[in-house]
Amino acid sequence: MTKTMEIFIDALLGSDDTERALFLKWMGLKMDMRSRKHMSNLRRKYKECEQKKDREAIARLDKELLDSSLGIEHYMREMGQIYEAASFGSNKISDKISSLPTLAAKLLLAGFPIELLDGDASNIPEKWNYKDHEDEVTDEDLKADFERMWTQEMGNIPGLTEKDVPCDVLMNFRSSFEHRNVTQYLQTMGKLTQYGKKQFKAKKEHVKLGKLKGLIYAHRSVKHDLQNTADNVISSCFKMTEQFAQSKGDYQTAFTKDLLDEINEHLKKAGTNYDTKFEFDLKLHICGIASRKFTEMHRKYLAEQDPLKHLKKFKSQYLSDFIDLYRKRDQCHRKAREFTQVCLNPAVTEYIDQSIGPDIVDAVLKKHPTEYSSRVLFQYTIQKELLEKSNFEDFNRYILQYNDYVKEWIYNRIVKCFSKDISLQNIKMKKLDSIMQKIMKAMEASKVDGNGSPLPNNERGAKTLIQNFCKSMNCDISISMKKVKQVLFQNTADCASFTKSLYECIEEMKIQLKDEISNSDIKETLNNVSVKPQSMLFKRVFGCGKKCPFCKTPCEAEGTDHQQHHAAVHRPKGLCGSRNDNVLCEEICTSSVLGNRTFKNQETDFEPQLYKDYRKYYPDWHIAPDMYIEASDYWKYVMVTFNKQFAECYKAEQAVYPDEWKKITKEQVLISLKKNILNIKY
Ligand SMILES: [Zn+2]
Ligand SMILES: [Zn+2]
Repeated sequence: MTKTMEIFIDALLGSDDTERALFLKWMGLKMDMRSRKHMSNLRRKYKECEQKKDREAIARLDKELLDSSLGIEHYMREMGQIYEAASFGSNKISDKISSLPTLAAKLLLAGFPIELLDGDASNIPEKWNYKDHEDEVTDEDLKADFERMWTQEMGNIPGLTEKDVPCDVLMNFRSSFEHRNVTQYLQTMGKLTQYGKKQFKAKKEHVKLGKLKGLIYAHRSVKHDLQNTADNVISSCFKMTEQFAQSKGDYQTAFTKDLLDEINEHLKKAGTNYDTKFEFDLKLHICGIASRKFTEMHRKYLAEQDPLKHLKKFKSQYLSDFIDLYRKRDQCHRKAREFTQVCLNPAVTEYIDQSIGPDIVDAVLKKHPTEYSSRVLFQYTIQKELLEKSNFEDFNRYILQYNDYVKEWIYNRIVKCFSKDISLQNIKMKKLDSIMQKIMKAMEASKVDGNGSPLPNNERGAKTLIQNFCKSMNCDISISMKKVKQVLFQNTADCASFTKSLYECIEEMKIQLKDEISNSDIKETLNNVSVKPQSMLFKRVFGCGKKCPFCKTPCEAEGTDHQQHHAAVHRPKGLCGSRNDNVLCEEICTSSVLGNRTFKNQETDFEPQLYKDYRKYYPDWHIAPDMYIEASDYWKYVMVTFNKQFAECYKAEQAVYPDEWKKITKEQVLISLKKNILNIKY
């Protein structure tokens, strides 16, 4: 405790009620006199410095002004702080301090104001007392006083505390193993945020083969499959994470749960030949990436929501309120504009973003009626484009990361589709028009009370108008009531002039929004829109998502609930890494099922089985023997063209294929692609 406070408290504790009251009155008067003398002096100096633009001196004077405004209330506050600090976390408090609350209660009873609540910055004292020298007060004086109050209030507001996001991710990560024992891995594990920085590699220890442990072939094949599974999961989870992080809100535990669910879904399809260590490492890799991304997201959110930052945003507005109040100036138009800009405008923008998803899909379907009309036509469009571009990387991703490739393709298509003309702008304009109509209707309806009589022409009427308006727009747009309160704080406008101003400002906002829309861009729109058009289109053409067990060709059956999966055209199996004695396999499923050739893999416990009998292992697949000889020309051509690259990619030897394959030309391939469509009944 400082010496001054010691003297102050002693004086209060020692004396009787009358003496105490006298002491406080006397002290108050003395301090007031001191401040007044000092302040007017300082204000004069302040003005001089301001004319000279002497910044250093201004800063110094600011501080002096702040210091010289010391009042009795500061001592009172200090008393409370001392009590708080002393009683925090300790049971032993000195007698003097423990008697402070009683003293405060006595003072309160005797009529001395005691600050019980502070930190609410929207409580600006309504009438700042300048009565003594009303003529001299300039805007600069008011501003200086405002600054002083502002600094004081700001010091009392606590910032937001950051959540430990990686810890939350880690907890979910752990519980995803349920009762399985992963303690040994957890013990050797480092910090979660350090994982997932390098590429994920399937390792020897990830493979679980049981009695087949000795089979090098089996080992290699399982490891290859695990790597493929991992690549797909990681890429799909990465996209999910990005999408979560782009949404405007805060991090939620559900994000991590969704990611872990997605991993589990993929693992279900990955067979049984992997060790828990694989699952552990894979989840760790993904959760590591997610924990960094989610922390970043959380921090961004905090920065935006921080009450201090929030209040600072409104600082100039509070200042103008303060000055207007003092000058009793008309603030009607300013308040109306603030309402439309700060409350209404964001709500309308949000409404447009949230609702245009389905409209974008409709527009895409209208522009490209064929390619999304069936799965087969969709495949045709993609494959044709792949062939035209003839790029190995694209083929490789299409084969190994089919889902991602398709999602990205659709996204790029949408971007391209709306980059050329103003159809996106037209969609948004339509939305704007319809919401503006609703706004005008709501305004009309808000001008009367529940009984249909006009609102009173005073401050209360203006307040009711806004309340009515927000209520009637409630089902279409979400206006933040917190912001409304902040904006309309100290609104003294009467209802009629406020309504008039409001109409003008709404018109102004409409023009501004139209301008924004005509400059809007599709990528940004896709980020903000809540129902993603790319996901809707993907669901339309994606089907069941199952792939041929031998060559990984996606199932072509329409819908998702069919009994049998099939694809008309299969590919040489080597294209997805399948091999015989490390030579990429050139065989195509549709011919394999005819002869006496065999296959072995995880499902057959690496025992050779006849292709003919594939349905024993894959009862829900129907692989029809070749319909006609050129059916697979497309993929034969791909194998011939990129044999070397595929071999390098799978660390295998190049496939050996029949000589006729080399004679297939690009033109023939295109013809066969078209023919395939004609041959398929759908
Ligand atoms: Zn196949
Ligand atoms: Zn299917």
